[in-house]
Amino acid sequence: MPTDPRTIVAAKRDGRTLAPADIEAFVQGYTNGDVSDALAAAFLMACLIRGLDEVETLALTRAMVASGDTVAFGDLERPSVDKHSTGGVADGVTLVFAPIAAALGLAVAKLSGRGLGHTGGTLDKLESIPGLRTDLDPEAIARQVAEVGCAVAAQSPNLVPADGALYALRDATATVPSIPLIAASVMSKKLAVGTDLILLDVKTGSGAFMKTEPDAGALAEVCLRLARGWGRRAGAAVTDMSQPLGDAVGNALDVTEAVELLRGGFAGRLRDLALWFAARALEATEAVPLDEGLARAERAIASGEALERFRRMVEAQGGDPRVVDDPDGVLPHAPVVLPLTAEREGTLATVDAEAVGLASGALGAGRTRKGEAIDPAVGIVLRCKIGDRLAPGQPIGAIHARSEDAAATAARRVLEALELVDGAVEPPPLVRRWLGADA
Ligand code: URA
Repeated sequence: MPTDPRTIVAAKRDGRTLAPADIEAFVQGYTNGDVSDALAAAFLMACLIRGLDEVETLALTRAMVASGDTVAFGDLERPSVDKHSTGGVADGVTLVFAPIAAALGLAVAKLSGRGLGHTGGTLDKLESIPGLRTDLDPEAIARQVAEVGCAVAAQSPNLVPADGALYALRDATATVPSIPLIAASVMSKKLAVGTDLILLDVKTGSGAFMKTEPDAGALAEVCLRLARGWGRRAGAAVTDMSQPLGDAVGNALDVTEAVELLRGGFAGRLRDLALWFAARALEATEAVPLDEGLARAERAIASGEALERFRRMVEAQGGDPRVVDDPDGVLPHAPVVLPLTAEREGTLATVDAEAVGLASGALGAGRTRKGEAIDPAVGIVLRCKIGDRLAPGQPIGAIHARSEDAAATAARRVLEALELVDGAVEPPPLVRRWLGADA
């Protein structure tokens, strides 16, 4: 690369605006192996602290997209949709949204991420299904979408490799919670896949990277501007992450929950949000009124069609399709399961969802070093939500761990993350803001 990459890092460290060409050269250098992890980590920290303006963010996004191939869909008969969450705890929306949307006649093509910081990653969850591969090449993604209706894949040496590498480095270097870095990471994966519609689920609250609604709204706006600048149609919602969305915080545990949901046996906020995004996708692509879309999404579950799409997606990606009939028999199990019970009477008022995510990570469900293997079997099941009235000794979930000690530590951390009060508490709204999907 023409400029010494250290001068690019030094310029950002000193608060200067970077030229798009320098950002592109730096990202290319990192992807080629010419720039070390150490220097790239310094770059990320400088960006996190100093910020990137809109032109710099666009250049970073463009460099990440340009680091690999792109996926195009020839003559798909169905409208194609991509949906992405900015990251949360017990956030398995993609696992259920993709098959529901496929059952509704949409085509879902999605590049997902791994666990990041305290949040879980769709790829790690899916890979807990024995045999399942996420390293699909662009042709395989396009073929699977045409045949099955949905595909969930990883960045790879062919697809947005720069995001794959930078994402793993951010996870290991405390450089995640930055609006431009998250926007570039999310949007590089979305812009590399040529769907008709991009839906963004921007999380806010204790379990999100954006703790406040204004920050989440700002992230949503930056992502939407990137999409518009690319000539792509996108919609975004700011949704609640002030508590784990579903009940399962781990990897195999989340797959079990997703299968239960698709079998019609799980009600709650995770299901509600997946149905809501499916309905928004129908509204944006086929002008189906929201209520009608919600009813159709419900029917896709009740008829078993969404579950069947999930089975076919798992099978097409090399996974064991029996996970749909017998998740317990197919998915890995942790040797220790410690029941969790409420310590006192009260109403659940707040949850430190980040602490719950970190407790699950410490059990082995997340990474502390770049490229580290995760333990798919461990994690936390927490079956109470804000506003629930709890009695002392009431079962509220379980810790799935490798050892008694690890389970006891996680149980303590989870119980400390729950704040109980005496009076009634209103559950927080699930969708805080819908920024629309412009035509
Ligand atoms: N999801 C992503 O893909 N990237 C981020 O940086 C955060 C969430």
